Amino acid sequence: MTLRLPRLASFAAALVFALPFPLFSAAIAPLSSLQSQAEEFKVLIAPPSYERTSEELRVTTDATIRGAESALNSLAKQDPAQATFDSTLGELDRIVARVRNVSNRIGLIQETHPEKAVRDTASEMSVKISSWAIGLDYREDLYRAIKGFADTKPVLTGEDKLLFDEVLRDYRRAGLELPAEQRAEVERLRKELTQLATDYSNNVNQARGPLDLTADELAGMPPSFLESPGVKQPDGGYRVMMNVTWHWQAVIENASNENIRRRAYYARHTLAKDVNSALLTRIIALRTNLALKLGYPTWADYQTEIRMTKKAATALQFEEELVAGLQKKFDAEVATLRTLKVTDTGKPDAKLEPWDISFYTEKLKKERYSVDTEQLRVYFPYQATLEGMFRIYEKIFSLTFTEVLPPQVWAQGVTLFAVCDRTTREPLGLFYLDMFPREGKYNHFACFTIAEGTRHADGRFELPIASLVCNFPPPSADKPSLLQHDDVETLFHEFGHVMHLMLGRSKHGRHYAFGVPQDFVEAPSQMLENWVWDKTVLDTFAADYRDPSKKVPAEVIDALKSARTATSGMFYRRQLSFGLLDLTLHTQTKPNPDLDVISLSNSVLGRVSVAPPADTAFAAYFGHLMGYDAAYYGYLWSLSIAQDMVSVFEASPDKFLDEKIGRRLRDEVYGAGASRDVTESVEKFLGRKQSTKPFLKFLGVE
Ligand SMILES: [Zn+2]
Repeated sequence: MTLRLPRLASFAAALVFALPFPLFSAAIAPLSSLQSQAEEFKVLIAPPSYERTSEELRVTTDATIRGAESALNSLAKQDPAQATFDSTLGELDRIVARVRNVSNRIGLIQETHPEKAVRDTASEMSVKISSWAIGLDYREDLYRAIKGFADTKPVLTGEDKLLFDEVLRDYRRAGLELPAEQRAEVERLRKELTQLATDYSNNVNQARGPLDLTADELAGMPPSFLESPGVKQPDGGYRVMMNVTWHWQAVIENASNENIRRRAYYARHTLAKDVNSALLTRIIALRTNLALKLGYPTWADYQTEIRMTKKAATALQFEEELVAGLQKKFDAEVATLRTLKVTDTGKPDAKLEPWDISFYTEKLKKERYSVDTEQLRVYFPYQATLEGMFRIYEKIFSLTFTEVLPPQVWAQGVTLFAVCDRTTREPLGLFYLDMFPREGKYNHFACFTIAEGTRHADGRFELPIASLVCNFPPPSADKPSLLQHDDVETLFHEFGHVMHLMLGRSKHGRHYAFGVPQDFVEAPSQMLENWVWDKTVLDTFAADYRDPSKKVPAEVIDALKSARTATSGMFYRRQLSFGLLDLTLHTQTKPNPDLDVISLSNSVLGRVSVAPPADTAFAAYFGHLMGYDAAYYGYLWSLSIAQDMVSVFEASPDKFLDEKIGRRLRDEVYGAGASRDVTESVEKFLGRKQSTKPFLKFLGVE
């Protein structure tokens, strides 16, 4: 079925949208009015001043490090006989949280300040603070002070007990509990590992895969691609670089000549093969060795200990369950794509090769599910979409958002909003909006933390501050800023992170909001993406800007959904093959200097996805193996929890607008943060154990 939106005549009346108008028509209140409201609730509202010059950034950084050093020295030097939880772990947590807040603010300036020199200094200061922070784990005097308190066997409960256990676990994981000789060995292995991982990543970055091709050979490629700078050569030929991801994607999705796709595939999948294959063997052996020395059966067990999965076996089992669940859908999709190839080539026995998948997937989407995403923009004018989203989050989380006058901002046009509880009027946090592109500004969409909610030693709570940093198309003379459906999904996702930060209420900084495990932190936002696929939700704000009586047609939403699930079996089996490759390499129980990492990886890829040829080496160019090692599964793990949580909304009386379920999410998930085991929070929200069934349903498996 081909579906296109009717073309609509444009209205001259649209001109009115080009005028820059404030978000709300009422006069904007000063921040001070909110501050007196905050006093009633014993909370503090204290937005920081944003450093304006390189000099100010240096002063802040030096003062922050100096202040933290001096506080840490006092902590370490205290009389062990007088030490308490608050004077040791509590104090350490507050010192680190203060540095983290400054570091977050400098990170924001680094990505958003209008002047390049200021951004560059901010980036230099960020590096300075992180290198200082890395040394903290190994400060022997701090360890002795904490250990001295731990040895008194204090009786602790709740969040204090959790913090205590986690800090001691950090020291154990860093090797500080080992006898001197073994500890030195662990430090040596760690340094060697850091060096080898850097080499691997550098080899990935430096690998080049040029292919020189003629216009004939590039049949099927979009003309705009062929005209791109660097692609068209002075001699009339074309050069595509298989290390440049958008070149690679364009060729593998569009080149109609199979032999060219095959050459592109080989070029891409042998990048860094010569240099990284042996290096990866050494890295895997080193990680295994390190894990064994620290008392873990495998590297993946070491890595997952601090995540939701806790054990490698849990992550493995999760992935295998999805592999099995997707088997039928995957097989059916392979058959469909193969049929397309048979028709395309006229060869009844055509085999679907790995270099055919993207090409026939694109063909399938164009032929059967095409939705003109450009035409959809008319339903999502920026202002109405933003306000509509605000109303939805206000409703489900029982909040109000009110614009206030910011005392100071880092760039013109940045606005500030206060979040209050709808019933009690208690102020809960502040967020800024920095929504349109600027020269040199961060060029994606993200929620930046400016300050986590902080509990002061005197018990008062200082409210959290976030900023949404986006790059929506600015309005033009005759049209408002019109968003793509994708952009609206991203907006709902990122604003979900803002909510997470606003609604955290843990006692200790370590547990605040994004302190949750890495394999969970995306789940609530991934869940909220589903809101923009629901007609009831969309109808509350999405309407043709030229004629607001026109809503997004139900069949368009259905077509979008069908396109999404048409090849989800292939897409997610591929994701699973990466996750399983990563886990397989990192669940070796003995360091093996002869392990053939390439053939081991290829066999996993072949079992779970479409088999790669034996002489290719995907694992030599898989950058995630450094820094995201034994963690790739986390993307699907959190997505699966996201869909599990969605099912609770779907089963409620008001579905995606249900206030009771929203309140439960606010209290059990956002509020709790990492102040208790996240699995417990998720189960409290779900009212049952986790399940992968809703995720499989989302993927189109019934
Ligand atoms: Zn996110």
